[in-house]
Amino acid sequence: MSDRAEENPLADTRELTAQEAPPGVDRRAFLMRTAVGGAAVVMTGCAASPEEQKAKAVATIPVTPVPPSAPPLSKDLNVVKKGEGPVLTTVDEFYKVGPGPSSSHTIGPMRITYDFYQRATKLPADQLAKATKLQVNLFGSLSATGKGHGTERAALAGLVGHEPATVDPKFLDSLRDKPDQVFPVKLGSKSIDVSLKDVVYDATKGDFKHPNTMTVKLLAGNDVLLEQEYYSIGGGFIEWKGYEPPKKNAPKYPFRLMKELRSHADSNNTTIGKIMLANEMSISGKSEAEVYAWVDKVINAMVATVKSGLAMPEDDVLPGPIKLHSKAATVYKRAMDDKFQADRGIGVLSAFALAASEENGRGHLVITAPTGGSAGVMPAIVYGLSEVRKVDRQKIREGMLAAAAVGYLCKHHATLSAAEGGCQAEIGVASGMAAALAATAFEMPNEVVENAAESAIEHHLGMTCDPVAGYVQVPCIERCAFGAVKAWTAVAIASNEIASRHRVNLDATIAALAETARDMNSKYKETSEAGLAQSVVLC
Ligand code: SF4
Repeated sequence: MSDRAEENPLADTRELTAQEAPPGVDRRAFLMRTAVGGAAVVMTGCAASPEEQKAKAVATIPVTPVPPSAPPLSKDLNVVKKGEGPVLTTVDEFYKVGPGPSSSHTIGPMRITYDFYQRATKLPADQLAKATKLQVNLFGSLSATGKGHGTERAALAGLVGHEPATVDPKFLDSLRDKPDQVFPVKLGSKSIDVSLKDVVYDATKGDFKHPNTMTVKLLAGNDVLLEQEYYSIGGGFIEWKGYEPPKKNAPKYPFRLMKELRSHADSNNTTIGKIMLANEMSISGKSEAEVYAWVDKVINAMVATVKSGLAMPEDDVLPGPIKLHSKAATVYKRAMDDKFQADRGIGVLSAFALAASEENGRGHLVITAPTGGSAGVMPAIVYGLSEVRKVDRQKIREGMLAAAAVGYLCKHHATLSAAEGGCQAEIGVASGMAAALAATAFEMPNEVVENAAESAIEHHLGMTCDPVAGYVQVPCIERCAFGAVKAWTAVAIASNEIASRHRVNLDATIAALAETARDMNSKYKETSEAGLAQSVVLC
């Protein structure tokens, strides 16, 4: 803390608040920015000068006025249309392994450029012979916060043939450390050199079909040989212009609402997890053993990410300008010394979430559940159930399927994308999923499973997305810990209240999530234009 702040932490902020707006700058916006900056200086103790505050205020005023809310999603996107039919998502689409820190800004773009590369290889040989350049253009939120998420590195990795589940995070680190590297991409008889310069941060605002829009082109000089517009719709899912969802088999127990899913489970005297297993098998054509093999892979990967996060040195600093110190190992160690068991429980559960989320911040492999930013929530509960409570593996598997059902419903009727719905769509959904997982693993009735998931999501409604400097670190990492603890709290309340008196059902809460997402000011949808992203002063 600076001497000045130590002398009087509540000092008059006028000295720090520039009063005169520079020519050509909106005075109201300027005064608001400088006031926020001045207050932040006093609160944080960062000794920024009035000139620095002024420069920051000017730099952060949007060049064009920010619209009050994001434009509606294009109605022809499948992500909008499919809320009409039964849920057809499967676990291998939903729980994806890939590099952090953001499923929509790293896993999605890498899948997109990999998809484009595959398409390009199928062009006739005479066309490929003319090719001279590959180019990726990022728009909307991908452009606004892509730098902090490493979107350009993920996009380049896909172009050179890497897939999210198998890419070595060290390859992505090497792109960060040596950004001038050039890679040959083989297309037929042609070899085209690509580098990070071929990934263009384009317009952040415009009439896009989805806030996470990108285009990929194969060029012959100025002529376009192949071009595709893509959308990274959240959770690592992708669509493209003209996208038709793959044909799938009908589910054994069709549902589009939790009410219908519960009714299948209750009338068959079984669990939500078992109904989901039957649906997974009928939709994908896989055997029970195959479905569970994938679920086991996901559980093991979640346990591994917590373990590797806890094993990082206590003085580790995460990549990026925030210079955020890792805290998982420290919180774990100190929490284990807590005198009271309840404090210990909350402390270590938080440490598990911090550990997995910090792995995400490092760009290491994480599991979307439902996204990269929220990738600490479910692993914390999985780790607690499996490694601490030693809950039977079969119960955890069923819990993972019940959790998936909650995530599917949110994807079906609302969104998993912070660029569409703020953080409620990431951490909120993750918390609801984690609550369903724990309640199922503890063999609670279906009604309690729904109530727990509902509560956990309900108390994240309205939560905005405002990552500082565009990095998925602040508030994201601690937010994962809160998401996990809220999930645990939701289970504690749901299992101890009289379940039939629970007044709000999950379908109503998901409808509120969707409505809130529509109404939320676009500044709070992963643009880093508001909230903490503006008030936190990096120094
Ligand atoms: S604030 Fe929430 S939604 Fe936004 S990047 Fe962080 S974790 Fe994701």
